[in-house]
Amino acid sequence: MPNGGPDNCGTCGFNRRNRGVWRNPEPDESQTSFCEIRSVAILADHWTYCQNWHSRTRIPIGPIYASGIYDHGYQRIPWHGLIAPDFTQAGVCSECGAPIEDGISIAAVERAPVEFCSNMHYMQWWKRQHPNEETPMSPDIWEH
Ligand code: SF4
Ligand SMILES: [Zn+2]
Repeated sequence: MPNGGPDNCGTCGFNRRNRGVWRNPEPDESQTSFCEIRSVAILADHWTYCQNWHSRTRIPIGPIYASGIYDHGYQRIPWHGLIAPDFTQAGVCSECGAPIEDGISIAAVERAPVEFCSNMHYMQWWKRQHPNEETPMSPDIWEH
């Protein structure tokens, strides 16, 4: 599999590079990836997702998702609002205290980033930060 799924921002019509065309074979290479309906730059466009790719409607539905740490397959993890999860090979998990080998990092303003040892521990934290939000594109995180 070349990436974490075909329904990514790189092929989305709401990415300004694609000018309204899903799976555009000729994106505008002079543009960087930018989501027109969420007004956010998408750096890892082939690894970023949301439900509006499927609905093709302009009102944002749910969070943006990143491709999480590879763990028995690709899992999608929600962004923390407009902050994309980053990846780290060092640190200590803020949920369980374990040392991190392949982990997730969330940038914070004027303090150390918050770091996680696994997709699951990131999701534990995320759900406390976003108690009223659903993550239907992260269906299998709890099984691993
Ligand atoms: S965030 Fe959603 S709507 Fe925006 S470009 Fe990516 S898949 Fe499309
Ligand atoms: Zn942990």
